[in-house]
Amino acid sequence: MKNNKISFKEIVSHAKQYGFVFPSSEIYDGINAIYDYGQYGIYLKNNIKEYWWKSMIQINENIIGLDTSILMHPNIWKASGHVSKFKEIFLYNEETKSSYRLDLLIENYFKTNLKKETKLKHKLRKYLDKKLKRNETYKILKLINKIKLIAPKHKNNKLTKWTKIYEYNLMFKIPLKEHEHEKKKFYLRPETAQGIFTNFLNVLNTSKMKIPFGIAQIGKVFRKEIIARQFLFRMREFEQMEMQFFIHPNQEEKWLEYWKKKRLKWHLSLGLGKKKYRFYEHEQLAHYAKKAYDIQFKFTFGFKELEGIHSRTNFDLKNHEKYSKKRFRVFDKEKKTVYIPYIIETSVGLDRMFLAVFSSALKKETIKDTDTKKERIILKLNPALSPIKAAIFPLIRDKRLISYAKDIYQNLNLDFILIYEENDSIGKRYRRQDAIGTPICVTIDFQTLKDKCVTLRFRDKMLQKRVLIKDLKREIKKETSMNQLFKLLR
Ligand code: ATP
Repeated sequence: MKNNKISFKEIVSHAKQYGFVFPSSEIYDGINAIYDYGQYGIYLKNNIKEYWWKSMIQINENIIGLDTSILMHPNIWKASGHVSKFKEIFLYNEETKSSYRLDLLIENYFKTNLKKETKLKHKLRKYLDKKLKRNETYKILKLINKIKLIAPKHKNNKLTKWTKIYEYNLMFKIPLKEHEHEKKKFYLRPETAQGIFTNFLNVLNTSKMKIPFGIAQIGKVFRKEIIARQFLFRMREFEQMEMQFFIHPNQEEKWLEYWKKKRLKWHLSLGLGKKKYRFYEHEQLAHYAKKAYDIQFKFTFGFKELEGIHSRTNFDLKNHEKYSKKRFRVFDKEKKTVYIPYIIETSVGLDRMFLAVFSSALKKETIKDTDTKKERIILKLNPALSPIKAAIFPLIRDKRLISYAKDIYQNLNLDFILIYEENDSIGKRYRRQDAIGTPICVTIDFQTLKDKCVTLRFRDKMLQKRVLIKDLKREIKKETSMNQLFKLLR
């Protein structure tokens, strides 16, 4: 069996062709960077969610879950610093007629032109930081032109002119009433974290949680990403799975390291390959962060952020104290004094996780079938994440086999997500299930009528075995249960 490489284009097209991800509003020519999940995509997405949720909340007694609203009081975004600081700086390039994010442009420039840590690199970094702090962006524009930075999309490496530099707040602003007064600006939330911080006191008062403890949630967020491409990697509407861990300020290092390790272990448990992950320490920090790491994943377009692990210090709670006039203090038994807890955040994009899992699983295999060579497209998903756990087939369209197969389907479809199929040849049905990642195909044949056994065909090795119908539930569970993943987290 030989593996052939799959391109990014093939990944996007497979996702659409097999009902995983559709471009939103496609009949109206689509809308940039917004996607819908299809009939199989929704199960894969829900399974990733379930795995994250259970490994955060169910197996950690000191983490609880919430589901907070998307629309929140406008002051929240002032206190969190998003109104004044959740911005990106963009540069417009005349030749390519495109805008580029300054931080990504600089990162790319350093990677290609200044690979080593030199004095020049250090000087440039310092200069940029200084100008950014002073808001002297026109000086940055001048510098970019002076060092003749080439626009990434530019074909001719000589000519390139940067003509504009501008800032852009990434939050979607919405009027809540028809003629909303300008002063009250509502926003679609750009992160789920604030819903957690603003409920900190509610949780403290209504649960038995004591520091250190965590609050987690999964939810939709919205960002006006200007460079919105790369499929599910950069979307304008996406979901985050976030956990905020509240700690004593002098335990910041310890918990940051703890969560870095723990989250990497979670990713590794999915079996996508150790070499596909690395840590990246941020040089430029988000406005709320003191120390920040990314778990980067090797997508088909290179190593990119998959999850952020940040020390947010007491930045958010302190500011909510200031704006809400409520006290976010807890009692320090040892020192007999009160303090505002520090926070370690873990934040992973559900859609980026989907892309990482989906794109790593998609394989092209050449299989030798007696004398002929055939190609099969197979989605080698971890069976615990597969949308469909088993496909039930009557060998041919015979009344007795169909009735038997339908009975099996009815008996098991409360326990597992199944598919029943009777069209086309068995070979074609296998190929269809391979392409959507179904780990087991169950075939009912004439022998079944006599011995009450069915044939199981396993996706990856294409092995077959016969089992008694009464043992089918146990067999499917053994192969597809999420418990296998939880064991790896211990
Ligand atoms: P980036 O630098 O790629 O813009 P970020 O640092 O702004 O990401 P965070 O604010 O830390 O991202 O958000 C946490 C997680 O949310 C990211 O690690 C990523 O998985 C996901 N995420 C962020 N922006 C997007 C987006 N536009 N589309 C899909 N997922 C996203």
